[in-house]
Amino acid sequence: MPWFKKEKTPIAASKQTAVRVPEGLWVKCPSCSQVLYNKDLQASLGVCPKCAHHFRMTAAERLRSLFDGEWQEHDAGLAAMVVGTGTIDGMPGVVAAMEYSFLGGSMGVVVGEMITRAIERGLAARMPVVVVSCSGGARMMEGALSLMQMAKISAALARLDRAGLPYLSILTDPTTGGVTASFAMLGDLNIAEPKALIGFAGPRVIEQTIRQKLPEGFQRSEFLLEHGMIDIIVDRRELKATIARALRFMHEPA
Ligand SMILES: [Zn+2]
Repeated sequence: MPWFKKEKTPIAASKQTAVRVPEGLWVKCPSCSQVLYNKDLQASLGVCPKCAHHFRMTAAERLRSLFDGEWQEHDAGLAAMVVGTGTIDGMPGVVAAMEYSFLGGSMGVVVGEMITRAIERGLAARMPVVVVSCSGGARMMEGALSLMQMAKISAALARLDRAGLPYLSILTDPTTGGVTASFAMLGDLNIAEPKALIGFAGPRVIEQTIRQKLPEGFQRSEFLLEHGMIDIIVDRRELKATIARALRFMHEPA
């Protein structure tokens, strides 16, 4: 007889809905239930052609979707995100994208170092910096060191700002915790993808703390835009053009 009591019914597999595009031939949209041909979905950058639900993207897919053709990867030996230099609709820039599938995109010392280096590359080459956030927040397992990354990255961004170079923050589903509380909200322009979960503490934590039901759509991009927390919501299919337009307005390439 085991010391623990066996469950009568097996524990149901966790309902994972808004996941990244799976490898299979067909994929069902978790929002509108439409069955989509995976290749079509990838061609539309992981956006459901029927209801515009944004599937999660890997960091490499994100950089491919933003850069024109060839781009140069930096710090490829470091895991946790993907950083590269290239041109976005002809505008040179450094793009750093967080990898949600790696420990929930959490921000530890490696993420902090990679984003800081990306900013320093921008400074050295006088190029704008774009950071695509997708993160559950600071990496708890790294303790205070993970929290220090908030200050480290923010200080590097202040240097970029003093040098007169633009920084665009792209907030994707989800952008929470220490990431939201630091660099994700420090963009000269804070751009969110539609219906992304963006917040500090998660909705369940808040509800359990204040013992109140939260309003509909709380902590989603549309709610935050209405309350002045972000500047603009952009469909992923328009993101590259929007970033390039903003950069052209803000910056004269060297
Ligand atoms: Zn759909």
